[in-house]
Amino acid sequence: MVKTIAVLGGGYAGLRVVKCLTHKKVDARIILINKNKYHYESTQLHEVAVGNKEPSDISFDIRAALPDSVDLIVDAVTSIDRENHRVMLQESDPVEYDYLVNALGFESESFGIKGVAEHSLSFNDIDSALAVRAHIERTLARYATSHDQNDLHILVCGAGFTGIELLGELIERIPEWTRQYSLPEGGITVDCIEAGKKILPMLPENLSSWAVKYLTDHGIKIHSGTPITEVRAGSVLSNDTEFPGNIIIWTTGVQGSHVICDSGYSQKRNRVVVENDLRVKDHPDEFLIGDVAAVPDPDSGRFYPTTAQIAVAQADCAASNLAALLDGRPTSDFHFSSVGTVCSLGPGSGVAAIDELGHWKFKGHKVGLLKRIVNDRSVLELAHVKEMLASR
Ligand code: NAD
Repeated sequence: MVKTIAVLGGGYAGLRVVKCLTHKKVDARIILINKNKYHYESTQLHEVAVGNKEPSDISFDIRAALPDSVDLIVDAVTSIDRENHRVMLQESDPVEYDYLVNALGFESESFGIKGVAEHSLSFNDIDSALAVRAHIERTLARYATSHDQNDLHILVCGAGFTGIELLGELIERIPEWTRQYSLPEGGITVDCIEAGKKILPMLPENLSSWAVKYLTDHGIKIHSGTPITEVRAGSVLSNDTEFPGNIIIWTTGVQGSHVICDSGYSQKRNRVVVENDLRVKDHPDEFLIGDVAAVPDPDSGRFYPTTAQIAVAQADCAASNLAALLDGRPTSDFHFSSVGTVCSLGPGSGVAAIDELGHWKFKGHKVGLLKRIVNDRSVLELAHVKEMLASR
């Protein structure tokens, strides 16, 4: 009897698993389940959130990128009935599986801080990125009648990669908005509020300090060592200090999909600790990869970070292990060696450390090009050339 592999999520990890399984010509029925009929590049959402890119620039139709042999169900997963091997869906009938690859991705994390959900916006998909853009543009347009300075104040909460890359895009966009809404020159201000003392600590010191200087030279105020304790309508609080602003964007980190806790997994921030071969303890038919998985790094004794690059590598490993299980062979452990880190600062600049030792370091305009190559390559790895060309 032919086995069924259900792959949940058509993000970087899910699409990559499907692609690897079809390349390996595994003897199984493959069903991909995704909420939308399109895939979007989640590493580029911040560009849509400020309007430097349109949704069509960072997305492509999944059906067009899949071989005919793969079944696609466009529906939202509500939970997984793990005992009975069934995926429960919002609109359609449950899907039965023999093997499961859970790659349902991330959601924004508020850490339970008061007022975050009510008074700030975050982005984790195309719709929420468009909502951020609409809110910014509506608030800036309102200044013409409100004359409220806070309508021109943007607060970016958190200076991780998402926050920093967003700041870079804002630098590019602000002159455009100033013209579009006839605002006073220099009227739009941006404050970034970050709990940590050091900005971009994961990058070599000269690159992180270059990035901070680039941002501050372009008028961004960065407040490090400033943990946010509450968000209010029109301001952000760090203990007794209040930062006013009517545009509040929340980028303080991510958690895994809520489907994880809704399915009874033992989890922390909707991430499940997996075995070294990416399967779940006591559930040898389940693989978890990407943002829903806490994957042990045997070298450091810690968990790997949740990046697109690592999610794609996990997808390769999960696909090989599925092929092994179908053939009755043993599985292999996940190992990862980074090709490096790229942090863009708008379309024309950024910082990059190529290889984990930071042997090759780039800063400035070359990184804009590097990021475009990395983005093009990730689309190319997931889809076909025609989708890549159509999406540029
Ligand atoms: P993150 O966890 O990397 O950064 C969140 C930042 O918010 C941290 O600096 C943290 O100190 C700060 N923060 C948390 N709570 C706070 C509070 N109460 N007040 C103020 N600051 C607070 O999250 P992210 O930037 O959303 O990135 C998520 C994942 O995606 C990470 O693994 C990241 O590496 C990855 N990512 C990578 C890239 C890239 O490689 N270019 C781009 C975007 C995201």
